Amino acid sequence: MARPNHAGPLATAQAQLAAAVERLGYDEGLHTMLATPRRELHVAIPLRRDDGSTQVLHGFRVQHNITRGPGKGGLRYHPSVDIDEVRALAMWMTWKCAVVELPYGGAKGGVAIEPRLYSPGELERVTRRYTSEIMPMIGPERDIMAPDVGTDAQTMAWVMDTYSVNQGYTIPAVVTGKPLEVGGSLGRATATSRGVVHCARAALAESGLDLPDVRVAVQGFGKVGSHAARFFAEGGARVEAVSDEFGAMHRSGGLDLPRLLDHVRRTGSVVDFDGGDPLPGDALLTLDVDVLVPAAVEGVLTHENAPEVKARWVVEGANGPTTPRADAILADRGVVVVPDILANAGGVVVSYFEWVQAQQAYWWTEAEIEAKLAERMATAYAAVAEMARREQVTLRDAALLLSVQRVATAHRTRGLYP
Ligand code: NAD
Repeated sequence: MARPNHAGPLATAQAQLAAAVERLGYDEGLHTMLATPRRELHVAIPLRRDDGSTQVLHGFRVQHNITRGPGKGGLRYHPSVDIDEVRALAMWMTWKCAVVELPYGGAKGGVAIEPRLYSPGELERVTRRYTSEIMPMIGPERDIMAPDVGTDAQTMAWVMDTYSVNQGYTIPAVVTGKPLEVGGSLGRATATSRGVVHCARAALAESGLDLPDVRVAVQGFGKVGSHAARFFAEGGARVEAVSDEFGAMHRSGGLDLPRLLDHVRRTGSVVDFDGGDPLPGDALLTLDVDVLVPAAVEGVLTHENAPEVKARWVVEGANGPTTPRADAILADRGVVVVPDILANAGGVVVSYFEWVQAQQAYWWTEAEIEAKLAERMATAYAAVAEMARREQVTLRDAALLLSVQRVATAHRTRGLYP
């Protein structure tokens, strides 16, 4: 099984920023402004368990930057959540929103919990208590949450309800990624995955290729990975391997995605699917495919396995899957990495559409949303690719240069108060 590299997502995020700042020639003061989270909250979440006992969990919300607009970022439920991971994820959200030109800053939240060990009732109580503890920080004009690892549309409905009940009226724009029945947007559930596939297509097109020309491996079969695998297959790519935390499945020539999705719906895992052969999870990352999509957790591509990666394109569905050392190795070897802040930005783009729709109380059709998403992703990819060509840097460096520059310009234009 692939193991996340706990050397630290925050170290990765800070190293990426430092490199961009150096290239942009900013002074230490501006660097510190860009590196320092604006607000952080660490909350205790007392939970009444179903058996009557009490447990105290720990939760966080970090607003890394709110210069271009309200904080925007997911809520993660995972046992390894800590303040540094949340800081890193919040910083990536700042750059991501700037890359796709959304009027948002970057934020992130998390609770250190293994959600699978808790009943739906317990998860609802955790979510409502967490929401009420961080209430002063959030709101449609302050900080807007969305689902991330371990949370889903139902979690967002509980956040929205708790916030609304406390304010005295219904405020759908406080979260995105909600169920459709309470103001969610068509196309949100699949938006991140669609964005990943749009980016893969754009990157392949630079080499005169398209989806039917490539073999794909997808690590992680959750909200991002499972739909991405499906869209790759629907576009004509051969998805030869997929994995989740329990194991991986492989089939030369391509897995039958509709059958695999059905298997996962029934059993909760890709393991034991009868349409392929089991593969050690780690082996998926170095499999002989053309496109590798890490869509699980951070830190899985390291200096140890990067020399063995055979894919020519890595399209980052997950946040922070590649360590800086792995990045350098992949760049040296000519592997094109479409970076997380661009490749997985489709989710936040449609979250923005959901927020706009909620503010107007007017909902768009799925076709309108998908067309607008495709256009945003194409524009962002083109801008990043153009910067990469002009500056002779990787797509990651170009995406960071573009976004850090946009945030720095916003700081300078607004000026420093007082
Ligand atoms: P999820 O919880 O729905 O799915 C995560 C998947 O990864 C699961 O299939 C899990 O079994 C698998 N997994 C966990 N550890 C693994 C390991 N070590 N090896 C292989 N598989 C492993 O989460 P998600 O929403 O799909 O998010 C996945 C990644 O995408 C995260 O980095 C998240 O921050 C990022 N992301 C998500 C969205 C979104 O809209 N959901 C948007 C942008 C970025």
